[in-house]
Amino acid sequence: MVLEQIWMSIDLPPIRFDHPYRDGPVIELVLPMEKLQPVCIRLAGALSGKDWYWGCSYKVLTTCHVFLGQTDKIDQIRRHEHGHCNGWSKLHEP
Ligand SMILES: [Zn+2]
Repeated sequence: MVLEQIWMSIDLPPIRFDHPYRDGPVIELVLPMEKLQPVCIRLAGALSGKDWYWGCSYKVLTTCHVFLGQTDKIDQIRRHEHGHCNGWSKLHEP
C-alpha cells in the first residue's frame, strides 16, 4: 500500500547536507501531524492527494524555520529538514 510506504520512509539527506544547520538560527515548531498538514501544504503548494507531510521548512535570510510532525520519527524528520536548511533541494537529489 502506497500510503504505508510513504509512512515508513523518511529519506535522510546526503552526507554533505546531513548536519545541524549552523549558518543562522533555527526556529522549530513541533505540531501534531493533523495540524502540520495545512502548514506544509501552504508552504509547498497543492497536495497531490497521496502525500502526507512529516515536516517542512523554509529560510528567510539565514534563519531556517522548521516544522516537524510530532511522531516517534521526529529525529529523522529533523535531520531531513535540517538537510533542506543546509541547501538540499526539494528534489531530494542524492
Ligand atoms: Zn524534503
